[in-house]
This record gives sequence, C-alpha cells and structure tokens, in this order.
Amino acid sequence: MLLLLVIAGGVGLFMQQRLAACAYVPLIGANILPNAALRPNPNQPTLPDGWRAAAPGVQLGEFALDGDGRALQLMGIANYVETPPVPVQGGQRYCVTARAITDTPLGSPTRVQLRAHWFDAQGQPIGTPRIVPPAPDSWQPVVLWQPDNPPEDWAYLRADVAAPPNAASLRVRVQPAADDRIYLDVLRVQRGGNAAAWQPDPPPTPPPLTILPWPGGKQAAVSFSFDWETAMGGLIHSRSVDDPNSAQDPLVRGMRMRAGVTTTLAIFAPYGIRATYFANGYNFLAGNSERREFMGNPTYAWANTANRWTSDQWQQQAWFAPDPHGTSATHPEWYFADLIPLIQAADQDIQSHTFSHFYGGFVTATDWQADLQAWHAVAAEQGVPPAVALAFPWSSSGGMSDASWHTLAEYGITTITRTSGQAQFNLFPRTVEGVVAEPHCGTCHDKK
Ligand SMILES: [Zn+2]
Repeated sequence: MLLLLVIAGGVGLFMQQRLAACAYVPLIGANILPNAALRPNPNQPTLPDGWRAAAPGVQLGEFALDGDGRALQLMGIANYVETPPVPVQGGQRYCVTARAITDTPLGSPTRVQLRAHWFDAQGQPIGTPRIVPPAPDSWQPVVLWQPDNPPEDWAYLRADVAAPPNAASLRVRVQPAADDRIYLDVLRVQRGGNAAAWQPDPPPTPPPLTILPWPGGKQAAVSFSFDWETAMGGLIHSRSVDDPNSAQDPLVRGMRMRAGVTTTLAIFAPYGIRATYFANGYNFLAGNSERREFMGNPTYAWANTANRWTSDQWQQQAWFAPDPHGTSATHPEWYFADLIPLIQAADQDIQSHTFSHFYGGFVTATDWQADLQAWHAVAAEQGVPPAVALAFPWSSSGGMSDASWHTLAEYGITTITRTSGQAQFNLFPRTVEGVVAEPHCGTCHDKK
C-alpha cells in the first residue's frame, strides 16, 4: 500500500513537472486548441476554419512540420494570425507552443511576438491583447531555412499564460516583426506552464511620448521634403511606377534636379522655411574621374522587368556602370557636390535617400550595411553628418527583412518615410476642379 502511494506520488510529481514544461500529459495535458490540424475553412479555403488574420498575407501552405501537408504562412509587418477561441477556465494556467521557420530569400532569421487575448462567457474582451512574455524579450526568434543549408529544426515558440478569473476563452495572436515569410505549425494550447497569476491591465499611465501644442499658438505645420538625386539615382535606374515623367531622358531630369535645389532655396529663403533634402550618394560627389568604386560595385539581378524595371539590362550591367567618370563641370547631371554648400549655408537638412537608390525590400541586411557605410563616407567628405532619417527609393520599404530594419537602427536611422498604396508621383490627387481631393491625407501614410 505504502509502495503504491509512493509510486502514485512519483507519477503525480512527474506529471506536474511535465505540465510545467508544457509537455504532453495524457488527459489533462491534451491540446485544447480547436482546429489545431488547420483544416481549411470551406467558405474561405485559404484560411483554416475558425482562424482569422488582420490582412491578406496569411494563408495555408504546404511546408509542414507534422507531415499533414498543412502549415500557416504568415507575412507582413502589420499583419497577424489569430487562433480560434480556445475554451478556458478562470484562474487556470495554460501554455501556448508552436513551431516556426522562415524561408525569406533575403537570407536572415526573423522574429515573432505572441499575444494573449481573453474573453468572458459573453464573448466580451477582458483587457487588451497582451504580449507574452512581456517586453523586452517578447520577440521570439524564428530560424532560417535555406535549401542548401537547412537548420536542424524549426524554432520553438512558447508563451505561458494565466487566465483571468472570469475568462471563458482565449485567442492567441502571432505577429511578425517584419515582412519575412514565416511558416507556423504544430500549434498547441494545453494546461500547464509557469505563468504568474493574471493581473488586470494597470491603470493607464501618461504615455512615454507627450504631444505638445504647436508653439506660438500655431494650429498646424507643413513639412517640406524632397527626394533629391543625380542621374545616378532613380533616373538612370528607371522603374515603372506609372509616372508620366519616368520615361524621359535621365540627363534632362538630372538637370531638373539641379535646378530644383536652387529654385526651392530661393523660394524658401524669404520665409525662413527649412526643408529636408533626401540625397543619394552621387549627390555628394564632385566627380569621379578617379574611377572610385562604391559598395563593392554591385549588380542587382532583382532589377528586372518582372519587378517593373523598364528592361533587364541591370541583370548584366553593374549598378554604377553608367558613371561617366567625369566631373560636375563636364557632367553636371551626375554629380552635385557643388550644391551641398548652398543647402548647408541655407541651414537646410540633408538626409539619406540611400547611396545607391536600390530597392529596400529586395536587398539583404548586408546590402543595407554597404549602402549606409558608403553614404556616411561620401557625406562626411562634404561635412554632412550621418543621416538620421531615410526616404526609401520607390517607397520600397515593403518586403524589408527584420535584419534589414535592425541594420537601419544600428546605423542611427530613427525616422523613415513609408508610403503605401499611393501613386508616388502624385501623392495628392486632385479633383477636376484642381483641388486636392483628400486634404486630410488619410491614406498617405501607413497607419502603423
Ligand atoms: Zn528617388
């Protein structure tokens, strides 16, 4: 009898330990996540039944870990996928686990965040969707899969949560850190884990960012900024953005970019208006008769007709090959160093439009590193400090990897422009009367 009790006690302790570790335990440690098998929704076969997503970019894929040929594909920095409601008991501890892997062609690992959203018996939310585990280590690494260098295993995601006393269901949200494609599989919710007892949301504290009124009783402000490039920017590397001006001679456009600086400086001077000029690398050069090579003289195979370039020439030709190796006297369309002192004397701001005018979402973090280094170097030669703001060429922030965003931060970029779903040559469409159609700019910027 005593022996049986000891065995039972030992089994009990063993099961407790397995539950705390989120391991499977018969009966009490079963997977309680509805449709964990990811069976498709008959009405919307791209999504599993009962699951929901913030935006398109979540769909069923076949790159599965558990052998059933079904996994979730998740893409998009502002996107997420959410589980069906999981029935829970108030006060009970649960653990959420999943496996994740990325096959981003940009060749870098990425990260996701898990959030717990609780609901009461009436389906009303209890508190806000909460990040688990809490910041600062809330981003969970997702391992990179490459065909010639596959990892040993998928990454293991885990979140331990405790249900609020009045909870009846839980939805778990998985949110990516960047635009890398992520696969999720073997999602589980079970009793167990090591979560601390649930606490209600703390009362709202003053936000870390305080928005002050405009000084001097002003009601509003206007910001002027320009993408400013020599022929070596988007002019020679022309990509079709349905811009009626984009097909024109890059040299003519280069001369217009020159005139644009002197013209705007003259307009701004009487009013003391300050603007930001987002410059490429060749803007800082007085010439290149010494035939300097930049960024390892790259060739970008992604700049092809499939990606809306006007020809496939960049698959063969190095990106900076059109450099005429002259000076701003012989080739004023290509080198603008003589304009930099004018901008500085007018106390105007110069920031980065990248050195190369490459496409941000198609390049790797290593490419970004080379670009930021090259920009810093040529800017410093003209006495311009490292950029803290960056305007993406062709609004190309879509597709940026988590590693690329990190590289921007490492190099001191704190501000970016990010326009989506907007004609880049016509940010403010006008009505037939010539009035700006949408004066509040409701769709001009990502809401994020
Ligand atoms: Zn540009």
